[in-house]
Amino acid sequence: MKPQRVTISKILKKYDLCQYCTSRMFSKLDDTPTSKLLIKKHVKKFNKSPNHTCYICKNIFKNFDSLLTNIYEKLDYVDFKTFNLGLTLKPSILERDDHVKSKFKIKGIENIKFGISSELIKKISQKTSSKRTNDDPDLFIQANLKNDSCFLRTKPIFVYGRYNKKIRKLAQKQVSCINCNGIGCHNCNFTGLKNIETIEGKISTFLIEKFVANQVKINWIGGEDQSSLVLGNGRPFFATIVNPRKRNRILRKSSDLNGVYLSELRKLSVQPKGSIPFKSEVTITIDTEKVISQNQLKKLSILENIKIHNTSKDKKGISKKIYKVGYKKLGKTSFSLDLFADGGIPIKSFIQNSDLSPNVSEILENHCKCKKFDFKNIII
Ligand SMILES: [Zn+2]
Ligand SMILES: [Zn+2]
Repeated sequence: MKPQRVTISKILKKYDLCQYCTSRMFSKLDDTPTSKLLIKKHVKKFNKSPNHTCYICKNIFKNFDSLLTNIYEKLDYVDFKTFNLGLTLKPSILERDDHVKSKFKIKGIENIKFGISSELIKKISQKTSSKRTNDDPDLFIQANLKNDSCFLRTKPIFVYGRYNKKIRKLAQKQVSCINCNGIGCHNCNFTGLKNIETIEGKISTFLIEKFVANQVKINWIGGEDQSSLVLGNGRPFFATIVNPRKRNRILRKSSDLNGVYLSELRKLSVQPKGSIPFKSEVTITIDTEKVISQNQLKKLSILENIKIHNTSKDKKGISKKIYKVGYKKLGKTSFSLDLFADGGIPIKSFIQNSDLSPNVSEILENHCKCKKFDFKNIII
């Protein structure tokens, strides 16, 4: 008798093993007809009696039904073509697998976790006509065989778009609930957010409902005041849609969200990295402390093609360029200023005496206040 055959019979004498565990355990041992027969006999005997419990897996391969039912039920709501699977197993299964392998010095065979995984992947692929992949799958399934539960996570969808804001008194960003500081409480209906209408809220709700997602994170290309309008082609934004279940939904190019108009909407295959430089065309209405004359306003021409520096400690070194300037006297103590400039200039600070150098108050030697500002265009 070959020593390997001795091993097979020894193992089978000592441990009751199921069909899956025997074929795995003996895959690297000899496959002579005698050995094959030995294994076949054992498996036949094992399968015949319902009382046999596999020493290693405790018949886990026969008990996938409850887990698979749970998985299929959740998958019903998910659009996907590719998936990957993560497994949580009782450590004792892995320990018993290792124990048998080390006791009989069996090397180079797949471990039990891999075996269970392959079996589940086969079943899920067949049932859902999908493919398993390691490479950025649409869906990740984390299955827990300790309690037959599962958890699904889908690949995020990235969306680009622009918004026009046609009504004043609508803040851009959501604000944390003052009561709970964003944790969630009865006051905020456990959203963690202050219950006000915002552009972020409107866009998020629209995209969450569209893709049946958990959350939307927006990367803004600049910002505006609550009372500012955003005109022209609108302000661009990038949104990350977290855990979208309906991934295949068609996103129309435009959408009217009651005061906020979305355009140029499209799905992106990758998320843009880093901050995106942009330029804005903005019209500012300014009130002055002292009476202002047309002649004095001419001083503002020096702003054309100069750089604005921030002299405050934490923002030193940041400079933004102004490309074009236009102004118009509106009344004794008011005028409008048109700027075409790099994005990200804090408009209110630029008008008042501030850390920005130069600023409008400084140039005019007249204390100025920004009454309102509207964006006519944002260019990226
Ligand atoms: Zn087994
Ligand atoms: Zn709250």
